[in-house]
Amino acid sequence: MKSLKLLMAGAVFGAAALSSSAFAQDKGTVGVAMPTKSSARWIADGDNMVKALEAKGYKADLQMVTKGAKVLVIASIDGTTLTDVLQQAADAGIKVIAYDRLIKNSPNVDYYATFDNFQVGVLQAQSIEKALDLKNAAGPFNIELFGGSPDDNNAFFFYDGAMSVLQPYIDSGKLVVQSGQTGMDKVGTLRWDPATAQARMDNILSANYTDKKVDAVLSPYDGLSIGIISSLKGVGYGSGDLKMPVVSGQDAEVQSAKSILAGEQNSTIYKDTRELAKVTVDMVDAMAAGTEVPVNDTKTYNNGVKVVPSYLLKPVAVDKSNLEEVLVGGGYYTADQLK
Ligand code: BGC
Repeated sequence: MKSLKLLMAGAVFGAAALSSSAFAQDKGTVGVAMPTKSSARWIADGDNMVKALEAKGYKADLQMVTKGAKVLVIASIDGTTLTDVLQQAADAGIKVIAYDRLIKNSPNVDYYATFDNFQVGVLQAQSIEKALDLKNAAGPFNIELFGGSPDDNNAFFFYDGAMSVLQPYIDSGKLVVQSGQTGMDKVGTLRWDPATAQARMDNILSANYTDKKVDAVLSPYDGLSIGIISSLKGVGYGSGDLKMPVVSGQDAEVQSAKSILAGEQNSTIYKDTRELAKVTVDMVDAMAAGTEVPVNDTKTYNNGVKVVPSYLLKPVAVDKSNLEEVLVGGGYYTADQLK
């Protein structure tokens, strides 16, 4: 169990466990691991998981105990590096749920709870299509593309979903990528790092846009959008007659929600992490009770070894026109939090 201990020691929320007798009495403790504390989204995920587990009678005391765990819920940092750890978990009879990010290359992933990640990308691109009125406007418009972290399976789904909408416009010449940088190998952003995206945007602007203007930026995550917008502001976009390009996002993080209300970031994709926690805990519950585990997709998520049965939630596109209705109306934020 050594590397499992190490994994959980490194995780933001440690794994915890109880013996099987304790599990029977009070439903036991479920280990929860989230990838980072530097993003509001993942902090909310951790909090929601704890609340949802406790509401159903599980413990999530976030202590690192590794022996006898029943279930691990893991949102991985790098979805390809957990193979040995998960084999040890499987040998110890521990069930594993991949939380939001697919764990790759291991047979020992029992279920996957996430959102429809391809649809996230479609919605991001459609927000650009809508804001530039691509269906009707003559163009051409200049766009630059950003992808998520290449070690996160989701990043490819987001990119492919977005390109399913954007590629036809690129092919017809209505959208032009002046940098020529397309494809996840060129546009990926390691570890979803905002500073990396900001630096790449700086380079793109100085190499390609001294005598042209950029009209849109596909950004897969709010943290990157903030970095990209800083870069754009740095060369004058968003002031005078240099309009801020249409910048997409994801997660409805509070800073981006404010930016959308202020007319800077164009849109984000809202994924209700309360719902994701609920679905995950329903999976834990069903496994504990030996009843049928809720899934609604048994085809899409092949992790390299097997297709992992999944539950996909629906993402929601948010821009200035529906932000308050969706985020405040839905109780995700209070009106005060967005001031
Ligand atoms: C999640 C996104 C998030 C990104 C960066 C992805 O795995 O699905 O919601 O924006 O990680 O944290």
